[in-house]
Amino acid sequence: MRITVITIFPEFFDSFRTTSIIKRAIEGHRVDFETVDFRSFNLDKHRHVDDTPYGGCQGMVLSCQPIIDALRSVRDERSHVVMMTPQGATFSQKKAARLATYEHLILLCGHYEGIDERAMEQMDCELSIGDYVLTGGELPAMVLIDCV
Ligand code: SAM
Repeated sequence: MRITVITIFPEFFDSFRTTSIIKRAIEGHRVDFETVDFRSFNLDKHRHVDDTPYGGCQGMVLSCQPIIDALRSVRDERSHVVMMTPQGATFSQKKAARLATYEHLILLCGHYEGIDERAMEQMDCELSIGDYVLTGGELPAMVLIDCV
């Protein structure tokens, strides 16, 4: 299985990928794990990744263009794209078992007030790890990957 995490903080995963069960899964060639920093897909020369929400809500969201370009760079017909969001369906053991059947999981980690609504159309599903709000999707992505 291939797992791709799209994040603005790939360094969150440095110790995760070299520790315990995920390390063994990578070394045993059962999991091919990669992070994609969508900052590098920003056409803005200052590499800004936040923007005001399309439609005029409060706060900032992760901009649409780098998310879509980052997804395009890794997605194919075998990919299943999961947005980590507190508004999603609650992640469970049953959902983990289903996700484990995909050849390629792509997890998108939000920040600020989430992601631009136009990029949400690219997601296959939205999952929450619980009824609370964290500052970013990296910890939820690690919970999901560990369970899968
Ligand atoms: N008001 C925003 C919303 O409801 O989406 C809050 C965004 S939160 C501050 C920033 C990011 O953290 C989210 O886009 C999501 O990726 C992640 N996140 C926070 N809590 C989460 C949870 N319980 N489950 C999954 N992802 C979560």
